Amino acid sequence: VFNFAAGPATLPENVLLRAQSELYNWRGCGMSVMEMSHRGKEFLSIIQKAEADLRALLEIPPEYAVLFLQGGATTQFAALPLNLCNQDDPVDYVVTGSWGDKAFKEAQKYCKPNVIWSGKSEKYTKIPSFDGLEQNPQARYLHICANETIHGVEFKDYPTPKNPNGVLVADMSSNFCSKPVDVSKFGVIYAGAQKNVGPSGVTIVIIRKDLIGNAQDVTPLMLDYKIQAENNSLYNTPPCYCIYMCGLVFEDLLDQGGLKEVEKKNKKKAEILYNAIDASNGFYRCPVEKSVRSLMNVPFTLEKSELEADFIKEAAKEKMLQLKGHRSVGGMRASIYNAMPLAGVETLVAFMKDFQARHA
Ligand code: PLP
Repeated sequence: VFNFAAGPATLPENVLLRAQSELYNWRGCGMSVMEMSHRGKEFLSIIQKAEADLRALLEIPPEYAVLFLQGGATTQFAALPLNLCNQDDPVDYVVTGSWGDKAFKEAQKYCKPNVIWSGKSEKYTKIPSFDGLEQNPQARYLHICANETIHGVEFKDYPTPKNPNGVLVADMSSNFCSKPVDVSKFGVIYAGAQKNVGPSGVTIVIIRKDLIGNAQDVTPLMLDYKIQAENNSLYNTPPCYCIYMCGLVFEDLLDQGGLKEVEKKNKKKAEILYNAIDASNGFYRCPVEKSVRSLMNVPFTLEKSELEADFIKEAAKEKMLQLKGHRSVGGMRASIYNAMPLAGVETLVAFMKDFQARHA
């Protein structure tokens, strides 16, 4: 089947097969990764290699720490303000979709966030021009969601914080490792693994080291980046198996030639799908402004909306799964993360043309 789910999402078949082959007995040690101590030499080698491979993939500078945490990106919505500012500090949020909005709302409990731009009135189909952003020059950080999974809008470039002492913070959950990123532009990058790099259960945080160590007094131990960094993400029992799976995916991405090659493939897939939508004479529509359309999540609707349920049902019969749009926006959504092969997108496009021919 081709699985177009937004997350948890499809993983590379070769990675799953490798995990299967190592399931009972990891590299001859007699234990499954699920059964080994997180402090033993076997697991330490797994987490250290995962980190080293991620550093190589994203060319993460040495002055950044990499943390493997729990609680999903949603937990980071709270951890960020708790670690990066005090209760009375202003911070800026650009809200380009539901996830940015959730991050903003959570931050309200821990600091003084301000929405400096919202795409809500235009149904989250745009990214603002950076010149027009009225940033607070005192803001401790500027938060963006690099790719809005539900609405399919993606930053193609990144704004610079106006405060010279402020930092850019990005939720990259749904486009993490889908293309090269200049990590040095960011104070913090965070991402739940379950779209591009692994199963749900692990959240990756990449943070400039000088930002660590200023957590508010009320910060729970588990959310304190200092505790996590000092303990190499092993303060308590980490999501060992998820970290192992991410490590296999990182290896696979390196084997593919790194993120430049991965981006080329992702661009090609997205181009084919958006072209098919745009060439359908309005039968299919993608509401997102063309210049900021996501390479990862492609939302679309049918002009004859009454046919959407049939579209999804018939696609499933043809082994194209989980194409239903998010419950908050309806329509369809094809998530075409790294692990979606070109053949999956080609099959979907062929189905779309056929469906149109039968229903136009
Ligand atoms: N941010 C983005 C962009 C997402 O797509 C999601 C989940 O889909 C989240 C945050 C929340 O992630 P989690 O469910 O890991 O908390």
